[in-house]
Amino acid sequence: MDYASATPIDLSVLQKMNKILKENYANASSLHDLGRESKKILDQSRKDVADILGARADEIIFTSGATESNNLAILGMLENMSRTVLDTKMSKTVFDMKIPHIVTTNIEHPSVLEVYKYLEKTGKAQVTYVGVEKNGIVDPQKIKKAIRGNTVLVSVMYANNEIGTIQPIKEIAKEIRHFKKTRDLVKFSRVLGLGPDQLKNFLSLSFPFFHTDATQAINYLPINVEKLGVDLMSFNAGKIYGPKGVGALYVKRNTPVDALQLGGGQEFGIRSGTENLAGIVGLTEALKLTEKIKEKEIKRLSQLHRYFIEKLSNSIEGLKVNGDIENRLPNNINITIPKIPSDLLVIELSVKGIFVSEKSACQSGDRAGSHVLNAINNPKLCKRNKENSSIRFSLGRQTKKEDIDCVITTLTQILKKLKKWYN
Ligand code: PMP
Repeated sequence: MDYASATPIDLSVLQKMNKILKENYANASSLHDLGRESKKILDQSRKDVADILGARADEIIFTSGATESNNLAILGMLENMSRTVLDTKMSKTVFDMKIPHIVTTNIEHPSVLEVYKYLEKTGKAQVTYVGVEKNGIVDPQKIKKAIRGNTVLVSVMYANNEIGTIQPIKEIAKEIRHFKKTRDLVKFSRVLGLGPDQLKNFLSLSFPFFHTDATQAINYLPINVEKLGVDLMSFNAGKIYGPKGVGALYVKRNTPVDALQLGGGQEFGIRSGTENLAGIVGLTEALKLTEKIKEKEIKRLSQLHRYFIEKLSNSIEGLKVNGDIENRLPNNINITIPKIPSDLLVIELSVKGIFVSEKSACQSGDRAGSHVLNAINNPKLCKRNKENSSIRFSLGRQTKKEDIDCVITTLTQILKKLKKWYN
């Protein structure tokens, strides 16, 4: 019941990885035959991943996971922009670019939010956090309103890791495109005394760029980058039944991203370090398999999802499902049970062999509450029900109807016991 945290490795993926670990241990940068064999496997993996995303092979950068991909997308872009654009007279006069600006939401993953905190603290960027609606979904019009002349990056996660809500990525991309198209080019050229060619050159940088953290989305949502309209997309293998510690960043051609770690110049100079070939092959195989069974899994899990929510609602008094009921991942069920502390519930369930995740809204003291649940909850309501148990069940390939029945029975028994103390 915790597939959103980690998925078991698929055995066919493991087999492929084992073969690489045993036989293709050579460095992909080595000139000899064994090295060239590794390079061939690396190139093929890159091409396969690119094909699935509707991208080109040179647009795929392999990383150590989604945290690194997110850091590289945001910090790497700012690094490049400050080197090339931010220092020019044009950026200062036209875009009022004393400091670059980023637009994001208030429910992003910490591997994005902590980067922004750092950028704000060090005065390297200003960040606007657009609040999501009560259903956990951001309004593209609000994103559009937050974009300014000096906005270099918009970053919105594709699907939320806590409540599973799906963000309108295509619509946001459309608003960004519209913003870029309707920039007042005539005014710019007049202010700067630019000829049309010079102006075109400058605007070919074409910010704001659009990044999405698609880590939770890969299993269940369309991931063609062209159709989504994104410039940068992060994901990892560990959430798609592949190995942990490997991920990728899609970087659309002409999207400016500088390296954050320097060395041998691997991954087109953007991410130095000997490639984790077995991990990369694992990621590729996992992605292929995910695509192959996606439609079937969506159907199967959507049915289980409906069944689970119906059963939960019938068995637990006052239960609330967090996040939009329709526009959410088919494997995510995040619920609030009034008055019961969530950590206690996780432990009680764990004792019975049921593993779930928890995070609560509006907590104070030493345990930090969930910024996602706080973003969608009414603070007054939270204060009244101090102890709110918010737990996340996340289903996956091995989940069956019997598992759900077992969870419902066990949870009902546990709640019966706990309610004696917490009512
Ligand atoms: N983004 C999201 C939405 C995630 O769910 C996770 C994993 N919890 C990450 C980023 C970080 O991924 P990794 O552990 O591969 O760095």
